[in-house]
Amino acid sequence: MQVLVYGAGQLAQMMYLEGCPMGIEVQAVDVKNEQVVHPVTKQPMNISLGQAIANADALTVEFEHVPEHLLEQASRSGKLYPSIDAVLIGADRVREKRLLTRVGVANCPHRVVTQIDQLDSCIEELGERLILKASRDGYDGYGQWRLTQSSELSALKTTLQGLDLESVPLVVEKMLDFDREVSIIGVRDKQGQIRVYPLAENLHHKGQLHVSVAPALNITDALQKQAETIFTILAEGMGYIGVLAVELFQCGEQLLVNEIAPRVHNSGHWTLSGSDVSQFNNHLRAVTGLPLGQSDSLKVSAMVNIIGCSAFSSDLLSIPGCHLYWYGKTVREKRKMGHINVTADNFAELGDKLRALSEYLP
Ligand code: ADP
Ligand code: MG
Repeated sequence: MQVLVYGAGQLAQMMYLEGCPMGIEVQAVDVKNEQVVHPVTKQPMNISLGQAIANADALTVEFEHVPEHLLEQASRSGKLYPSIDAVLIGADRVREKRLLTRVGVANCPHRVVTQIDQLDSCIEELGERLILKASRDGYDGYGQWRLTQSSELSALKTTLQGLDLESVPLVVEKMLDFDREVSIIGVRDKQGQIRVYPLAENLHHKGQLHVSVAPALNITDALQKQAETIFTILAEGMGYIGVLAVELFQCGEQLLVNEIAPRVHNSGHWTLSGSDVSQFNNHLRAVTGLPLGQSDSLKVSAMVNIIGCSAFSSDLLSIPGCHLYWYGKTVREKRKMGHINVTADNFAELGDKLRALSEYLP
């Protein structure tokens, strides 16, 4: 079987590697050049995009910001999973908030802003601690601005002056004092069957994910159930097929949706070492119509991103249960270069291993 993935980064690469033992050949699309490339070497393949679409059993995406004309072409094949609508929801915070409202899933108090002057009423309604997010093309904290007190408003307005808010509105959210960030990742197949992984706890630095721990510490059955219900409502609400990630803020015993990603997700990389069937494997199964695999965690896991550097000692592999996933990209500041999965029998052991790991990382 063949699966064509739009996007040629590490997520397509990991799908490729998980597809190999199942006899699924994954090809990637470099969406800038509209060229079919090998997901690992990134070398152009001797096939046109049109031919690759015709040959593929399923088409999917590794990121939501695929140019719309390519998504439309993919959708016309009748083989795009998740659907173009689901991908476009994930690519646009305004559509995303509309979905959350439509299906009635709790999320962060917010307003949509199309004119800078509307920021004054946002402060009145939401308070002076705000986070402003460009509705499109933002990721890893890019395209975001923060307001911590109303005296900063005029400076912020100056910063935002050049933006065309009519075509790319801002979603302005109340800055929440949540207890922690967690995410729920699951998969839904063509028959509507759903499998959900345990909640992961996510630690961010400057808007970018650094560490995930799964299962998250101190998760009650009720909280896991709440997350699974949110996942199910969203996946069913979109008629979703494939892996879907939902980022959540935990406030006491309540979960609020932060954002959704219509794809495999960085906070699910732990599943490569810590679960029976990884998110990449389950995504391929869902989009090709194969039976879904188990999504329970086998042990406790942590995933540590390697960001913006390649200089570290590979002796870290001497730590038992330590697995390196290197993406083979050229180094750039803030770029995700690879990740390390660490598995352990319990959280105390996981803590020891993470402390040992920190000795090897810059
Ligand atoms: P991205 O697409 O960059 O991941 P997010 O909306 O997830 O965008 O924001 C990045 C991070 O910023 C979040 O993981 C969280 O740490 C912080 N953040 C986002 N929205 C809020 C909010 N309303 N209140 C407090 N922190 C927030
Ligand atoms: Mg996010």
